[in-house]
Amino acid sequence: MKPSSFEYVRPESLAETLDLLHQDPEESKVLAGGQSLVPMMNFRLARPSRLIDINRVPGLAGTRVEGDRLVIGTRTRHLAVQNMSGADPLARLLRSAAAHVGHLPIRTRGTFGGSLAHSDAASEWCLIARLLDATMVVESRARGRREIPAADFFLSIFTTAMEPDELLVEVSLPRLGDEHRTGFAEFARRAGDFAIVAVTTDLAVEKGVVTHARVCIGGVADTPFRSGAAEATLVGQRLDDDIATSPLARAAAEAAASEVDPPSDAHGDAPYRRDLVRAMLTSSLAQGVAR
Ligand SMILES: Cc1cc2nc3c(=O)[nH]c(=O)nc-3n(C[C@H](O)[C@H](O)[C@H](O)COP(=O)(O)OP(=O)(O)OC[C@H]3O[C@@H](n4cnc5c(N)ncnc54)[C@H](O)[C@@H]3O)c2cc1C
Repeated sequence: MKPSSFEYVRPESLAETLDLLHQDPEESKVLAGGQSLVPMMNFRLARPSRLIDINRVPGLAGTRVEGDRLVIGTRTRHLAVQNMSGADPLARLLRSAAAHVGHLPIRTRGTFGGSLAHSDAASEWCLIARLLDATMVVESRARGRREIPAADFFLSIFTTAMEPDELLVEVSLPRLGDEHRTGFAEFARRAGDFAIVAVTTDLAVEKGVVTHARVCIGGVADTPFRSGAAEATLVGQRLDDDIATSPLARAAAEAAASEVDPPSDAHGDAPYRRDLVRAMLTSSLAQGVAR
């Protein structure tokens, strides 16, 4: 199908973008990489009367370090994240997650912020943002800038806490010291498909003991799911070198699988998804320890 008719505008500045969004927020849509919005328009699941293309707005792409935070501009392409340099645990985590986002043409065009604004609960960037308690920076002409913690940002599938006149400008993530062990594992039927289940983990380890644990799961709820049960199981425990076969990984995997309440659909029923949670959690922990 073809999209219904719309007006196309291409602002050259952030101020112009915010003015345009302010004029008609309910009928406008921001166009970033177009990798989710354009298919939705073609299927007429989205029918904006005005598309605001932010691809020429300066200052929205790229990354910078600000103290102990890494700030990622909204229009940073998936591929730019995949090509990031750095041997630190955050850079490694971002690179390994980026490799799972769609296919190369999608990663070339699709954006970090577009993915978060789209809010698919199986999206790699939504999981990472929730795992690391990212801060979303949004801006509107009426209310200026405000910050939204990731825990409050994802409301449901395709729904965020952003108001229709707001633009996601950038996202800040905590930088992770060498004591962190990060991992990302997902299962999809074909390479490039959205994950049926994905798990990402971040353990802080001192003298072999887990002092802090974060576990986030996609594909089991309407929003990325932080498994408090798995996190509590891991904290205070000694890590085995062979984590994949360790009783600790089994206990964490079992805790997460019991805590989630996954849907059953054409891609897999609830018991199957629970099995995937066990396998992906173990694999994500093993990745972290292997490094
Ligand atoms: C075949 C295929 C496979 C895919 N596989 C995956 C996958 O495995 N994992 C994955 O995560 N994604 C996948 N995607 C989606 C892809 O990652 C998209 O790039 C991403 O979801 C949206 O980013 P975008 O820049 O293309 O945004 P767009 O499509 O331009 O926009 C998406 C939505 O976000 C809004 N938006 C965009 N930017 C902003 C902003 N700055 N402020 C406010 N609102 C904004 C738009 O108005 C729209 O509602 C796939 C897509 C396809 C076509």
